[in-house]
Amino acid sequence: MGLVVQEIKAKSILSKSGIPGVDYCINPYVGCSHACKYCYATFMKKYTGHTEEWGYFIDAKINAPDILRRQLKKAKPGAVMLSSVTDAYQPAEAGYKLTRQCLETLLEYQFPVGILTKSPLVLRDLDVIKKFDDIEVGLTVTTDNERIRKIFEPHAPSIEARINALKTLHKQGIKTYAFIGPVLPMDPERLAQEIRPYVHRVLIDRMNYVSKTRGIYTRFGLNQWFDKTFTVNIMQRLKSEFSGKDASIC
Ligand code: SF4
Repeated sequence: MGLVVQEIKAKSILSKSGIPGVDYCINPYVGCSHACKYCYATFMKKYTGHTEEWGYFIDAKINAPDILRRQLKKAKPGAVMLSSVTDAYQPAEAGYKLTRQCLETLLEYQFPVGILTKSPLVLRDLDVIKKFDDIEVGLTVTTDNERIRKIFEPHAPSIEARINALKTLHKQGIKTYAFIGPVLPMDPERLAQEIRPYVHRVLIDRMNYVSKTRGIYTRFGLNQWFDKTFTVNIMQRLKSEFSGKDASIC
């Protein structure tokens, strides 16, 4: 199945956020070609008219930078998250550069920015990122096992690529964090060892979308990862590996 890409014009791009500590969200795309099996954002499909499966369509908001500029002129300064219901650095961004242009516009106003992505494409924008007074970049890393990653996040970048991105950002003096969520089958000590040198903090979250993924766990003999006591223990082991850093469980 190929990816269907449409260009759309958004009416608004700087959306008020209900996420604690986040005032606004910017989503330059609708849909996400990373196609994670547990994706929490699939509800967005109903607003699009797309009939393709989630992960196989995206709408690029081609006027996002222009609309943002207009909105920022009137907006009260606040923390901005890129992004909440898409990955702002999914492959289409390499061509469209909508996220980059939005960042450039945010820079003019120096709104604090938090980026969360699964993609090393974020490194392309290091020159802009470095100019912010207040910015944090997070990479989502959900397992240390590439086989598991391919099952649950079939079109997302490899674990190695994400950790290397954290490493580069960290070396460049950018505040970084790892979002380890949802916690997928993993060796928690090994994952922590790989991530720990390159992050200022970690955020750990359980699999919250059990109904979307139950069949996958069963098919691959991973059912113990549904057991609450088992996964709480894994999350605690992960957290303790980051002692001395800011580590929290959602
Ligand atoms: S990267 Fe995020 S938004 Fe994209 S499919 Fe995966 S979970 Fe959904």
